[in-house]
Amino acid sequence: MDATTADLPAVDAAAPADLLLVPHTLLPVAPADGVLEGMAVAVRGTNIVDLAPSGEITARYPGVPRLELDHHLLMPGLVNAHGHLAMTLLRGLGESEALDVWLEDTIWPLEGRWVDAAFVRDGVRLAIAEMVASGTTTAADMYYFPETTAETCREAGFRLQSAFPIIEMANAYAKDVDDCFAKGLALHDRFRDDDLVTTCFGPHSAYTVGRKSLERVAMLANELDASTHIHLHETASEVAAARAACGTTWLRLLDAIGLLNENLQAVHMTSVSGDEIQLVAERGVRVVHCPHSNMKLASGVCPVGKFLAADATVALGTDGAASNNGLDMFAEARLAALLAKSANADPTAAPAARMVAMATMGGAQALGLEDRIGSVEVGKRADLIAVDLHHPAMQPLHDAHAQLIHASTGPRVTHTFIGGRCLYANGRWTTLDIDETLARAALWRDRLRGV
Ligand SMILES: [Zn+2]
Repeated sequence: MDATTADLPAVDAAAPADLLLVPHTLLPVAPADGVLEGMAVAVRGTNIVDLAPSGEITARYPGVPRLELDHHLLMPGLVNAHGHLAMTLLRGLGESEALDVWLEDTIWPLEGRWVDAAFVRDGVRLAIAEMVASGTTTAADMYYFPETTAETCREAGFRLQSAFPIIEMANAYAKDVDDCFAKGLALHDRFRDDDLVTTCFGPHSAYTVGRKSLERVAMLANELDASTHIHLHETASEVAAARAACGTTWLRLLDAIGLLNENLQAVHMTSVSGDEIQLVAERGVRVVHCPHSNMKLASGVCPVGKFLAADATVALGTDGAASNNGLDMFAEARLAALLAKSANADPTAAPAARMVAMATMGGAQALGLEDRIGSVEVGKRADLIAVDLHHPAMQPLHDAHAQLIHASTGPRVTHTFIGGRCLYANGRWTTLDIDETLARAALWRDRLRGV
């Protein structure tokens, strides 16, 4: 059902504006899920300050620059709730290997040999370029050298949640787990009041991080009211190994040490019992579903429908480009919808509007940013994308949500704004040197190949 203007929040008519966006179609996502025509959005600084019929907006803001989006759909930017941005430089390596072989024989040795701050900077720039050109305005990252990732995102104007790594093994970034905590806490302090970059704890997984370190994460995260982002129950064999090692599941272990709460972002969750689904919902844990990575690595299927039925928050993530192999969130949402339908033998599962909400507000809620992003609402950041409807695959527009999920792809995005700033418009990146970014990626291919 379409929303009406009466569903939208009151506006501050006296507020001046820097830019008016006048789209053919608007999908606000919240507070009402609907498809609006003839509406316009006024932006001032970083925020949306007005949303009203375009005639009213025109009258209220004479002389303010306008972006006419006559053949476009305007919607909130997509939120990629899990990834490893710098791993774009490893895209395509270890193709069709099993998860353990892929990690232990391909990815970890390459990371050990090559990952440094320069690798991370170049990989993150490549990821940002790909994401803004396909409609993603916020990403959750978990990787080495998070300071470099945060600085690179800030420079490019990209919104980031950085989960700083907590890893037991020595690596180029940290000499031991104490070093991880020290560096992570310093990063957390540094970006405490930053609007674009938020930080949280990023223990890789319960099977690679010891109980003592997880208890330390729980204590500090609770003290700081910070989130924790972790790979959890990615495969059935991981859960079986937990039972063998400690007689319970990792989920139950995290509950016992006080990590299972609304500040926990649990990534993957393919292997969970009915009781555990209830527990996750009761504790307010945020579930992050990465269907492409799970399907590609044959990790299992996250029971998204059951989590939603239990009222758990579910978001979508691409995972790293090494296991996807792209960062296109439209593709991810489509795959999530198809997987839910196919796995449940139920074509009514995962309606398109639900998937659009999952890729926007779901991500915002998972990252604790729902007061800032996830919908086109007055007072929220102007994280907005325009999707080209003037394309054979996008017409006729009977059902905008279905078109976005089942007919559109990232390249249909023409404009991407983050915090009111245009980062991408009609094939041009405004905050990145795309030629240099691509040249650096090619250089890393040669290095990794030993050319
Ligand atoms: Zn991951």
